[in-house]
Amino acid sequence: MTFVKSAKALVEAGLVQDVGALDAVAKRYAIGITPAVLELIDRADSNDPIARQFVPTEAELLTTPEERADPIGDLSHSPVEGIVHRYPDRVLLKAVHVCPVYCRFCFRREMVGPQGLGTLTGPELDAAMEYIAAHEEIWEVILTGGDPLVLSPRRLTGLMQRLAKIEHVKIVRFHTRVPVVEPERIDEAMVEALMSSGKTTYLAVHANHPREFSPAARQAFKRLFDGGVALLSQSVLLRGVNDDVETLAALMRGFVENRIKPYYLHHPDLAPGTSHFRIGIEEGQALVAALRGRISGLCQPTYVLDIPGGHGKADIGAATVSGGDGCFTVRDWQGGEHAYPPE
Ligand code: SF4
Repeated sequence: MTFVKSAKALVEAGLVQDVGALDAVAKRYAIGITPAVLELIDRADSNDPIARQFVPTEAELLTTPEERADPIGDLSHSPVEGIVHRYPDRVLLKAVHVCPVYCRFCFRREMVGPQGLGTLTGPELDAAMEYIAAHEEIWEVILTGGDPLVLSPRRLTGLMQRLAKIEHVKIVRFHTRVPVVEPERIDEAMVEALMSSGKTTYLAVHANHPREFSPAARQAFKRLFDGGVALLSQSVLLRGVNDDVETLAALMRGFVENRIKPYYLHHPDLAPGTSHFRIGIEEGQALVAALRGRISGLCQPTYVLDIPGGHGKADIGAATVSGGDGCFTVRDWQGGEHAYPPE
């Protein structure tokens, strides 16, 4: 079981030829590749979409003027350490800032990893729980980070039992890459821990390419679903990974075939050193429009942009309706335009 965590280890694993500038990249952004991901990487393909997501490149040393350390403005909505309260009825609870893998396009790359914000201390976690308990408008708690599933089932159960005591919290949602990148962690104890609050539990699986649905990942999804966890997807639209309609269609169908409802397709955020991953919004809209009609309505994600500065998410899917004053032009999935109401 080899975990790759340094520039030197990338060479030893045959993922790059030499360390070159990658030591400089590693000083700024964490490196992490799990054995499951190593198995998925096609070393013969210099454009492998799996390698592109996890193997660092020199391109990360370029920070463009519009990029920012906190691209979605978490810090401006953080009343206490570990809590982001951007919308009235829900909070993010960021208990850990560690992940099993470190995605090269990560929107929180300045906060996660060994040089990141670390794990909440006991008193910080107490303060976060007190904040949730004191705000009765909080209906949903979203555990993200970092990846909350790096916590042991015992520690997760401890967290869940604290949330269980807060009556107004009805939904607990996890955002995670673990079922795909470290599927062996999804055992019976983990599923029990996820369900141990007695609340309705959702888990948003992060995957960006259909090849990520390995047999072990499929088994992990099944274990979660059979254990009572409702499954959603989240993906990032990434240049060189999934910026073509065939790949996106296969990805969304792959989710649905695994009983995961497509939820968010994120426009890439303005994270530092990630310009090589970004596509234009018009290009993204065209791709999302091409999914309509081509694949079932069950497979359609919502294409969203996290507005820089902490202003929340906006649906930026293909503008299919224009006009006003009771008269609209509606565009169908083939680009045809129709008056509504009909003339
Ligand atoms: S798993 Fe999520 S938080 Fe962790 S590096 Fe990847 S995108 Fe960032």
